[in-house]
Amino acid sequence: MESQNKIYVNRPTLPDLDEFYDLLKEIWESKKLTNMGKFHNQLENELAEFLGVKYVSLFANGTLALIAALQVLRISGEVITTPYSFVATTHAIKWNGLTPVFCDIEPETCNIDPNKIEALITPKTTAIVPVHIYGNPCNVEQIEEIADIYGLKVIYDAAHAFNVKLKGNSILNFGDLSILSFHATKIYNTFEGGAVISHDEKTKKRLDYLKNFGFAGETKVITHGINAKMNEMQAALGLLQLKYVEKNTEKRKRLAEIYYNAFNHIDGINYLKIRDEVDYNFGYFPIFVDKKDYGISRDELYQKLKENGIFARRYFYPLISQFSPYRELESSKPENLPVATKLSSEVICLPIYADLDEAEVQKICEIVQNSTTTY
Ligand SMILES: *Cc1c(COP(=O)(O)O)cnc(C)c1O
Repeated sequence: MESQNKIYVNRPTLPDLDEFYDLLKEIWESKKLTNMGKFHNQLENELAEFLGVKYVSLFANGTLALIAALQVLRISGEVITTPYSFVATTHAIKWNGLTPVFCDIEPETCNIDPNKIEALITPKTTAIVPVHIYGNPCNVEQIEEIADIYGLKVIYDAAHAFNVKLKGNSILNFGDLSILSFHATKIYNTFEGGAVISHDEKTKKRLDYLKNFGFAGETKVITHGINAKMNEMQAALGLLQLKYVEKNTEKRKRLAEIYYNAFNHIDGINYLKIRDEVDYNFGYFPIFVDKKDYGISRDELYQKLKENGIFARRYFYPLISQFSPYRELESSKPENLPVATKLSSEVICLPIYADLDEAEVQKICEIVQNSTTTY
């Protein structure tokens, strides 16, 4: 049996089960289970409105959304991306038969460093796939400038960036396309799910063909599409979850403030600074352990937390470039990725989710505070 006092890095939030039951009853009565049903279409519209974007194409998960986004823009050759992410970012590139080229990251944001992109561009480069890591926006202006000069497409992996805004504008409105993930571990979940955000009707339509085997009519198949449709149960849950996004963000914000206050006073514990012009979603709380000032290493603190029932996660360690499918690439060499290599060795993501008690967060802060002195 699971012990009561274990705390994990996150726990999914769910709506009231009775509310979900009412929608399930509708599905049972209509016998419409999938294939762009009522709830699917309603969720596409409501999400577009809620997020402040033009077109939403729902997908079965975020990985398939990214695979389809690369397909729909006919990306070929080499794609410049970040090694500091969840492995699905690079896998989606690889599943399209493309070559990932890893670019180092910025020390302040952990996002792809635009100043290091140009040196990696070759005649084979066709796209950039940056990630708004932890939901903190990339330097979208500088990335756009480079993409425009070289004629590259930009597809943002915005799996962490649900409802994030930059100067009041959805971060999903930047780049050619953005993808979202609604996996159970993300701040907005549909059990599993995802979406591609597009800015014109033609692309939206082609994405919808792609996720349904390439069907563009009853007897017409226009491309080697895949089955990546979101079903009605997922979409129904998504409609309910939408009602709680703002409230849950407020709760996570309060928890983040407790962490900020505590870590302002601990040497060697650094946290991610979010710029004032960003409306953040507080989906993650990464800290970076500098052993020199803090006294013990990241892994020692990670163990300490574990001994106290706190199951933090080292997102993102190891770097994607260190995994066996990618480590032979020239761009994977650690000497080409000094910032990513360093931050990856220092990071711990602390628990943050809407249902987490403030007292528990206080406790975690105390463990971090006391870990260096108890050694
Ligand atoms: C979760 C995640 C994905 C994959 O999303 P799934 O819905 O789990 O397929 C892709 N990229 C990043 C950065 C993620 O965190």
